Amino acid sequence: MAETGAPEEIQVYRATWVMPITSDPIYDGAVAVKGDSIVAVAPFDKVSDAFPGARVIDFQDALLLPGFVNCHSHLEYACFRGLIDNHNFGPWILEFIGFKARLNGPDYAASAYLGAAECITSGITTVGDAMYSGESLKAIRQSGLRARAYQEALGIDDAHLDDTMARLSEKLDELREQTGDLIEIGLFPHATYTVSASLYRAIAEYARERGMMVASHVAESNEETIYIRSGTGMLALDLREKVGWDHLSRQPFGVTPVKYLQQWNVFGPDFMAVHCVHVGPRDIDVMASHDVSVAHCPKSNAKLGCGIAPLPALLEAGMRVGFGTDSPASSNIMDMFGEMRTAIFLHRGVRRDTRVLNAADCVLMATLGGARAMRMDDRIGSLEPGKQADMIAVDIKFNHFTPVHDPYSALVYGANQEDVFFTMVDGRVVYDRKVLKTLDNEKMTADALEVKNKLRS
Ligand SMILES: [Zn+2]
Repeated sequence: MAETGAPEEIQVYRATWVMPITSDPIYDGAVAVKGDSIVAVAPFDKVSDAFPGARVIDFQDALLLPGFVNCHSHLEYACFRGLIDNHNFGPWILEFIGFKARLNGPDYAASAYLGAAECITSGITTVGDAMYSGESLKAIRQSGLRARAYQEALGIDDAHLDDTMARLSEKLDELREQTGDLIEIGLFPHATYTVSASLYRAIAEYARERGMMVASHVAESNEETIYIRSGTGMLALDLREKVGWDHLSRQPFGVTPVKYLQQWNVFGPDFMAVHCVHVGPRDIDVMASHDVSVAHCPKSNAKLGCGIAPLPALLEAGMRVGFGTDSPASSNIMDMFGEMRTAIFLHRGVRRDTRVLNAADCVLMATLGGARAMRMDDRIGSLEPGKQADMIAVDIKFNHFTPVHDPYSALVYGANQEDVFFTMVDGRVVYDRKVLKTLDNEKMTADALEVKNKLRS
């Protein structure tokens, strides 16, 4: 079926509904693509008049929309799904660290390939991926995904700060050699309980000098708030003992995680705060005044018993917010439909008000909102002439979609991962009629079983 054409050849993709995001859905719409870019988005008859003789790929009963932007993932933990399903955040992270130690580089790579495949088959075209091992880069590159691949950094012993930064810098140089046109490298200081204030500050300075973007887990759990505020709790005691940091001193800072980070000058428009569950109005003011963006991960936060991030307040403060699936180790599947649905139900339920979020708001956050949060909205996030051709098609011929009154409603309340049948990134078809074009599904499944056996051994 549809393949990428010659660079100068125009391909016209037609569907029952085209959803540009920046304008109203178009019934019987079409998107014309030339090389890696979108050249037209309009009703089909107008596009076909403008490009007579162009090859037409007619998806018929489908929604055609921009690919989802997953602001926060950990592809390398795809094989951890279903391993720890019933722990609160503190015990969960302790057990997770134990499992992590059982895997080596090739295992993480195998897991990341599976994660990349899942993203593509569920309509995610861009990931903000946090990498512990750095192995995910191979999977991202081969899969054809667009990404900001963030290298994680951990360290709370300031006696080794210079060594940590030197190693990190070396690793980043190594990663930069492996990026293609669609991948950018970022920095990911892991969290307030695994990264010292000096290391946070050093990373922020390093990134600013080089124009790199930074993201970090911020205010995810109650355990984190207790750790920063009082210097105690599970993260201060059990976690430190588990990773061999129990000989290092710690102190209570008496503030929230957000105010703690503000003191070390890490916030700016180049910083994305992942989670932001435990934030109050003053924390939100601080982040908004620094133009910090947020990755909202409602499923992971709820599943680990962390709570519900105050999304309506973050949006009311004018913050740039996108969705993140977080890692399959916590949220099991990287499914933006699940994130959209969880968000709308949670926030409407908690506020007892349907006005807090509607289906169109959710789709905006999953596409252009995520692109804004990642500062990629000049290239992606909507279907508009001049933007890169990142788009997906969702099959709506099934009973659970019929009849479609409103494509936003169909997408948020009705669609699932498996309804996606076409994914294009940068003009390249990476998934077509449910067939992966860049990855070997059989090999990935076999490799994943081996990783599973190692995790269970
Ligand atoms: Zn995470």
